[in-house]
Amino acid sequence: MTETVTNWAGNITFAGELHRPRSPEELRALVAAHAAVRVLGSGHSFNEIAEPGPGGVLLSLDALPSEVEIDTAARTVRVGGGVRYAELARRVHDRGLALANMASLPHISVAGSVATGTHGSGVANGSLASAVREVEIVTADGSTVVLGRDDPRFGGAVTSLGALGVVTALTLDLEPGFEVEQHLFTELPLAGLDFETVAASAYSVSLFTDWREPGFRQVWRKRRTDQPLPDFPWAAPATEALHPVPGMPAVNCTEQFGVPGPWHERLPHFRAEFTPSSGTELQSEYLLPRRFAVDMLYAIDRIRETVAPVLQTCEVRTVAADAQWLSPSHGRDTVAAHFTWIEDTAAVLPVVRRVEEALDPFDARPHWGKVFTVPTRVLRGRYPRLDEFRALVRDLDPEGKFSNVFVRDLLGS
Ligand SMILES: Cc1cc2nc3c(=O)[nH]c(=O)nc-3n(C[C@H](O)[C@H](O)[C@H](O)COP(=O)(O)OP(=O)(O)OC[C@H]3O[C@@H](n4cnc5c(N)ncnc54)[C@H](O)[C@@H]3O)c2cc1C
Repeated sequence: MTETVTNWAGNITFAGELHRPRSPEELRALVAAHAAVRVLGSGHSFNEIAEPGPGGVLLSLDALPSEVEIDTAARTVRVGGGVRYAELARRVHDRGLALANMASLPHISVAGSVATGTHGSGVANGSLASAVREVEIVTADGSTVVLGRDDPRFGGAVTSLGALGVVTALTLDLEPGFEVEQHLFTELPLAGLDFETVAASAYSVSLFTDWREPGFRQVWRKRRTDQPLPDFPWAAPATEALHPVPGMPAVNCTEQFGVPGPWHERLPHFRAEFTPSSGTELQSEYLLPRRFAVDMLYAIDRIRETVAPVLQTCEVRTVAADAQWLSPSHGRDTVAAHFTWIEDTAAVLPVVRRVEEALDPFDARPHWGKVFTVPTRVLRGRYPRLDEFRALVRDLDPEGKFSNVFVRDLLGS
């Protein structure tokens, strides 16, 4: 019987049949044998980005040898296409090195994360794709292509939506290991908010609200212990450990109250050894030029009575501009408004549309891995390098083996 495959949240059931190749040879044979192929990473996206379509196949790389090769002298790591951040981070930390940043949870795969422009927070921290210096791809004809930063095609090669082929390895930049403390605050008012100063007040800053009132219920400041921690006079220090979703127990969250710890045990909000939640949620996120941050917050505030009833939590972060053509933070220092919704697609979708209308004046780009309804013709106008990406897809995958409905809609092909 064919295995039923869903994404992590369970809101998408994939039509494509799942295969788990055990060797590179088996992987290439599967690619050669099928007309429509997509890779499923850890399945943490909330839309049909990974769906190959009926008759197509999904490839999971989790049965391939889990490659993590660290070069301490060069400060780089080569990581296999199925490896997750939790394992990568542990191995990198064991060698006294670090990744510059991580997303909110470490259970996501590296290749799947960088394919969608996944990011953490920090005014000087680019998306996770900006750490990638080289990518190895098995293309439609079974050959292997390696693209590095000095290749003119590199801008399309990392945040590629899985459209170029199977990413079998990535080489990432590392840096010397560092420690981080989390300092949490509560009740930051929206009125008079100096967003730039707040967002730059630590290495990584996240603001959380449920939009039941204006302003933020929580501020998470992640300070590198080798950097100063400016005073934070705008909100009160938290007196208890907090979960980003109000009322949820903080036991699954990384250590708070300023206790220093290694980078990979503080930069994600959730501990690697716990499942962050049951998956009873949907997510959307919009990334727009950072100069619009305060206008964006007031635009959401004006519709908060529509937003709040279907919202678990909203997180506002920053991302530094990066060079990947399809990255939602491409070419512009970014503010990102993330929404964790309740698990009710019918109730959530009309609210997603309202949020998109409210953010429309700000050239907002939706997160590729989350729920959105922005029409593709509008999206195309928000990615100035889309033509170059289209040409790259045509070059590496002329028959469209790795293009699904999601990608074809975007490329207009
Ligand atoms: C609880 C939770 C927390 C999250 N936190 C954050 C966050 O902090 N910041 C943020 O930006 N996002 C966040 N996300 C979104 C998440 O990072 C993205 O959806 C990301 O794509 C997940 O990686 P994945 O491996 O699960 O990708 P999948 O959903 O499995 O796949 C995404 C895309 O990548 C492609 N792909 C995957 N692996 C390969 C490969 N080896 N070769 C070629 N293509 C491949 C797939 O075909 C697909 O197109 C979160 C999601 C969840 C569920």
